[in-house]
Amino acid sequence: MSTETEKLVSFLNTWSVSNSTRQAQEVLHDESALVNFAMEHFQSDSGESLHDALSFRNLVREMLKEHDFTVLNTLIDEQIKFEVHAIENKYALKPVALKNSMTANLLIIIVQLAQEQQLHRLKMCPDCQYVFFDESKSGTKKWCSMTKQSESGRACGTIAKVRTYRQKNHS
Ligand SMILES: [Zn+2]
Repeated sequence: MSTETEKLVSFLNTWSVSNSTRQAQEVLHDESALVNFAMEHFQSDSGESLHDALSFRNLVREMLKEHDFTVLNTLIDEQIKFEVHAIENKYALKPVALKNSMTANLLIIIVQLAQEQQLHRLKMCPDCQYVFFDESKSGTKKWCSMTKQSESGRACGTIAKVRTYRQKNHS
């Protein structure tokens, strides 16, 4: 996973469900928490309100859940332009933010993943709603704990896997 993708995944998981208490946790609970996050990951202020940052995050999470890119395309239309740049003797179409903000930069990371045909790897676990980047060869992982050796101690997908196993062996 690239550093850029890591930033995106960290941002999308600033809202998560606690593994131990099963309660929702909000990292970006006030303006100063947003500034801290932006400084840590982008070495600058976020350049936007907490409200705008949260609504962007929630829209992207919703997009991953519903596999619906309508809102994403609207955001691209509003916040990004494309320029041709020379990269090592080749010319490439590069997304550029119209107004510099943290979420515009995160949006560019999403666009670049789409350009590299890797966006399908950005997923939300249907069990715990944790966002992860599926680095498997096939790119068909469904649950978070199947990508990492359960660093978080989650066992997502276990119930579904057991069900599938039983169905296969009792038919
Ligand atoms: Zn999970």
